[in-house]
Amino acid sequence: MSSTVVSNGVNLGKYLDLPQHGKVIAEYIWIDGTNGIRSKAKTLDKKPESIDDLPEWNFDGSSTEQAPGDDSDVYLRPVALYNDPFRRGDNIIVLAECWNNDGTPNKKNHRYAASRLFEAHKDEEIWFGIEQEYTLFDEFGQVYGWPKGGFPGPQGPYYCGVGTGKVYARDIIEAHYRASLYAGINISGINAEVMPSQWEFQVGPNLGISMGDELWVARYLLERVAEDFGVKVSFHPKPLQGEWNGAGCHTNVSTKDMRVSGGMEHINLAIEKLAKRHKEHISVYGEDNDKRLTGRHETASIAQFSSGVANRGASIRIPRSVNKDGYGYFEDRRPASNIDPYLVTGIMVETVCGSIPEVDMVAEAARE
Ligand code: ADP
Ligand code: MN
Ligand code: MN
Ligand code: MN
Repeated sequence: MSSTVVSNGVNLGKYLDLPQHGKVIAEYIWIDGTNGIRSKAKTLDKKPESIDDLPEWNFDGSSTEQAPGDDSDVYLRPVALYNDPFRRGDNIIVLAECWNNDGTPNKKNHRYAASRLFEAHKDEEIWFGIEQEYTLFDEFGQVYGWPKGGFPGPQGPYYCGVGTGKVYARDIIEAHYRASLYAGINISGINAEVMPSQWEFQVGPNLGISMGDELWVARYLLERVAEDFGVKVSFHPKPLQGEWNGAGCHTNVSTKDMRVSGGMEHINLAIEKLAKRHKEHISVYGEDNDKRLTGRHETASIAQFSSGVANRGASIRIPRSVNKDGYGYFEDRRPASNIDPYLVTGIMVETVCGSIPEVDMVAEAARE
C-alpha cells in the first residue's frame, strides 16, 4: 500500500528529536466549506496556559470554499486545546471557529449558534455520546482489504470480529485510539462494524459544546493516522449499495433530570417533542442519509418517526438497561456518519430543552 505521504520513519526520527528551544508548534484546525477539516501550523514563543493565550489567526477562505476571492480572509478564533500526539512534547492542536471579516460567523461555523443554545440551557447539563462509524478505502477507491474485483463473504462474522479474514485494518484503529487518548479526547471505546473495514469509535459522555469539539478533533486524528497507512477515511453514510450496512453517528442524549431516579418521565417527554420535529431533525442529520435510513440494515425509515426499548430498527432507542433502571439516556439512531455534530447536538438541545429567539438550527444549517 503506497501513501500520498512521503514518509521514512528512520530519517524523520532524526529531526523530530531536535530541541525546539522553548518554541511550541500549534496546529490550528478548522471545518472547511465542504464539511472537511483543514489545518496549518504556527510557532508560539511559549506553551499557552489557556485558550486565551492563543492568538487569533487567518487563512485564505477562497481556497477552502469558505469565502469569495475578492474578500478571502477568514479569521480563526481558538476555542479548544489538545495535546498533539504527532509532534508530542509541548506541541498542541488548536480547534478554531471561523469568522468573516464583517464580524459574522463563517457559513460553516455552526458551533457559534449551538454554543448559544448550550449557554441558555446550561442548568440542564445536557450530555452527549456520539458513536462515529466510518469506512476505510484504499488508494484505488476500493474498500480496504477487500478482494480485487470481488467481495468478501456476506455480513455476519465482522461485527466485533476477531481473527484473520474477520477483521480489517486493526493497526489504524489501535493507533487512532491511542492518539485520541493522548490528545485528551474523551474517547469511550472502539469496535469493528458489521461491514468489513467499517469501524466505530465513541466519544462521550460530553457536556454540551465539547461533544462537537471532541468529535471533530477525533476525526482529524483519524484522518492523520490513516495518512501514515496510505488509507482513506470515508464518512459517507452509504458507501456501498447492496446488502452492506451504512454508517451512522448514533447520538446518545441525557439531561440532568433524565439521569436520576424518575428520569424515564423526562426521557419520554423528550421523545414526544422529537416526534413532532422529525422532518426538522432529518434536515440537519447529514447528506445522503436517505440512502441509509431505508428501514433495513438496523435502521428506521427516513419517512417516519418511531421509538422503542432495545429496538435497533427505531428512530429512537431506549437501551434495555435504562428502561429497567427507570432513568439514564436515549439514543437517536438517525444521524448519518457525515453529520456536523454542532448541528445535531444544537437541534437536540433546541428541541428537548427549548428554543431561544436568536437561534434556529434548521435555518442555521441552511445559512450560506
Ligand atoms: P451501542 O450499544 O448503541 O452500540 P455504544 O456503547 O457504542 O452503544 O455507545 C454508547 C454511547 O452512549 C457512548 O458514547 C457513551 O459515552 C454514551 N452514553 C452513556 N451514558 C450516557 C448518558 N447518560 N448521556 C449521554 N450519553 C451517554
Ligand atoms: Mn455503538
Ligand atoms: Mn455501530
Ligand atoms: Mn448505537
